[in-house]
Order: sequence, then C-alpha cells, then structure tokens
Amino acid sequence: MGKVEEFEGIILSVRHHHENDHLVKIFTDRFGKLMFFSRGTAKRNSKMKTAILPFTKATYIGTINQTGLSFLNDAKDREQYQSMQTDIFLNAYATYLLNLTDAALEDRVPNGTLYHKLAASLREIDEGSDPQIIVNIFEIQLLPYFGVAPELRGCSVCGNTEGPFDYSDRYGGLLCRNHWQLDKHRYHASQRAIYFLRLFSRVSIDQLGIISVKEETKKEIQHLIDMIYNETVGIKLKSKSFIQKMGQWGDVLKESRNPDNKQKNEVSQTDEDKL
Ligand SMILES: [Zn+2]
Repeated sequence: MGKVEEFEGIILSVRHHHENDHLVKIFTDRFGKLMFFSRGTAKRNSKMKTAILPFTKATYIGTINQTGLSFLNDAKDREQYQSMQTDIFLNAYATYLLNLTDAALEDRVPNGTLYHKLAASLREIDEGSDPQIIVNIFEIQLLPYFGVAPELRGCSVCGNTEGPFDYSDRYGGLLCRNHWQLDKHRYHASQRAIYFLRLFSRVSIDQLGIISVKEETKKEIQHLIDMIYNETVGIKLKSKSFIQKMGQWGDVLKESRNPDNKQKNEVSQTDEDKL
C-alpha cells in the first residue's frame, strides 16, 4: 500500500469511471504524472467536485502507489483558471498545453521545471497574455522533452552567431548563410520567424513582460514551429487541429468585420521592426 502524501498538482484530464467516480490524470510537482482514482466525485454533493475540474491547480492529499492507480482523498488551495472555462479560444490553447505536456511526460517521472513552466503558462494565458505567444514559447521549450534539442544559439555547422539564419531538420537547428547550400530542404523561414524562435527558446515565461508581435509575423512563427513539430516530434493532437481551425474562422471574422484595414489591431513597437 502506498503512502499518503500532500502535493501540488495541475489537472491534465478527467474522465468518468463507473457511475460515481472519476479517473483523474494529474501532473504533480513531486511525483510526476499520475492517474488517480477519485471516489464519489461524480455525486452531486461531492466536496471534491471543483478540485478535479479541468484548468485547476491545487494542493491535493492522496495515496501515491508505485504501480497501478493512486488515490485522491482531499484538496485545498484550489486555483481555477477562470478565463479558460468561459472563453472557447483560451480554452482551446490551454487544452493544447495540457495535452502536449501529457504527451511529453512519462508516468511517475518528477519534473519540477516543466511543472512550473506549465503553471506559469496557464497563469499567463489566464491573465490576458497573447495565448499564441505563450503556447509558442511552451512548444519550443518543450522540444527537449520529446528528445529534440535544436541548435538555436548559432549555426549548427560552424557556430556562427550572426544571421541571417535558416532552419534545417537535417542539421538539427540553424544554418548560417554560408552553409545554406548544405541542405536544399532547409525551411526557407523568414528572418522574423527565426528571430522569435531564438528569443522564445530562452525567455522565462515567469518574467515575460509584454511581447507584441504582428499578426503576419505570428503566422510565420506558428508555421515554423508547426514544421519542426511535424518533422521531428510527429504527434497529432486533436486540440492542435482545433486551434488551426479556429485560426481560419478568426481570419474570416476579421475580414468580414474589417475589410479595408486588416492590420488595425496590430502593434508594431517590437524588436521585429529592427530586422
Ligand atoms: Zn555556418
């Protein structure tokens, strides 16, 4: 029998089990990702009901077993990320963060660094930061957990740190212009997208401040990251395709609302203007 422990955790997913119970997957700060049996939480009067909702972080008390299911007994200090419960767009981005984390993690392998990165990302989205930027930073910083550690400090061939750069799967990272001819399948990415790829790989989500990026540049960044994920990570998540579809609706909405001035809402005070 396992030991009763108190730990912090973020709900990754919840599903019904039998009539009254739930199976809850939690990313815990100290024990890694674990599946918990949560007895009676589907009953109307369960006091644990809100503690196992998606987009919740809390301190849980439970029995941690070395094999099989662990058990959830109680929770306190519940923190619900409110905006994601009510806004379908934020919900989609946050769901993708949770699914991506789930895909990157092995069961029972503690990873405090990633735990805090996920908590900080969810909080940033909840507090109104641009969800795409937060997700992009998370995607890039999660790559090593999928066994992909692209060289983004400089050229992967000669170490040159002066651009222009392009990205190459074959060389696992950046190539400077002198070495572009080595890979004809390099990405032909825009310098702006490369700039943000490098920036996002080293920023701390905790100390982000305001990063404002033009819509057009955001599309280029997303395209570049999607290419890296498709070529090297190769996972297909439903929540990801949902975000892509949402982007297409967004474009349609923007055009119908604002046919003459598509860039009305864009701010251009960022470093990208220096490029
Ligand atoms: Zn080079």
